[in-house]
Amino acid sequence: MTDPTTPATGGPLVVRTPDELRRALDGRGRVGLVPTMGALHGGHRTLMRLAREKAETVVVSVFVNPLQFGPNEDLDRYPRDLPADVGVCAEEGVDVVFAPEVETMYPAEQMVTVDAGAMGERLEGASRPGHFTGVLTVVTKLFQLVRPDLAVFGEKDAQQIALVRRMVVDLNLPVEIVGAPTLRDADGLASSSRNVYLDAEHRDSALTLSRALRAGVEATAGGAEGVREAARAVLDEAAKATPPVELDYLALVDPATFAEASPEHRGDAVLAVAARVGPTRLIDNVSVTL
Ligand code: AMP
Repeated sequence: MTDPTTPATGGPLVVRTPDELRRALDGRGRVGLVPTMGALHGGHRTLMRLAREKAETVVVSVFVNPLQFGPNEDLDRYPRDLPADVGVCAEEGVDVVFAPEVETMYPAEQMVTVDAGAMGERLEGASRPGHFTGVLTVVTKLFQLVRPDLAVFGEKDAQQIALVRRMVVDLNLPVEIVGAPTLRDADGLASSSRNVYLDAEHRDSALTLSRALRAGVEATAGGAEGVREAARAVLDEAAKATPPVELDYLALVDPATFAEASPEHRGDAVLAVAARVGPTRLIDNVSVTL
């Protein structure tokens, strides 16, 4: 059995098992959970700060969830550095870091899962079959283990937070879902654990994603079609860049269902993009009002 460890600096309590987690949380006040896959960056810090504002006890989970990765994805090379993550959590005043082993979360084959339904098959779900079932299953397990009053998710993964919100309603889960705005680096690239895969040239090409989204935002006067066309024009150019930006999808969707917005769509919509730059797959999105 691993003993819970508290760094000498008075940082968070690091727990590895459900029993240790229960002991750490028993008798604590309002609990806020920030689920992450680690390799923590500024975007994760935004979520921790929101949780800190809204809860008495902040729990950050660090778990690279195999169930949400496809067979040819980056599960093995996904960046992992728990000591650095604990350091970030200490700086943000996090109370408990829950960092379970894969065997702890999945001691046997996971037979019962949470089906993400039709919304889970669109966009990211179409490109990554089974991804959102893996996400919703691990989020449900984390909710059961931590029993948080609230959980904070990033708008960076817009379809993910929309699905989590829907799951909480459809399954009557007693958790408040809080959304955090996307943090961007100074050059506009959305902060992501996967950005460490990008060298300077790839990063240059990757900037096209946020540029395309900005072009879309500026074209709202042209309605749904105008937004799509403006963003697509930027991405068409980027397809010819070196290294090229290989578009996976560009879509303007209804924020609640992630179904394509009709040409007559009015009100809020999400402009979402996914593309590959070299070996790295990146996603980004912005809200637009038509
Ligand atoms: P991940 O570790 O990539 O699974 O992300 C954990 C949480 O952090 C998710 O809710 C993400 O949406 C959120 N997140 C990741 N990057 C950002 C960002 N740049 N801005 C805001 N939230 C983010």
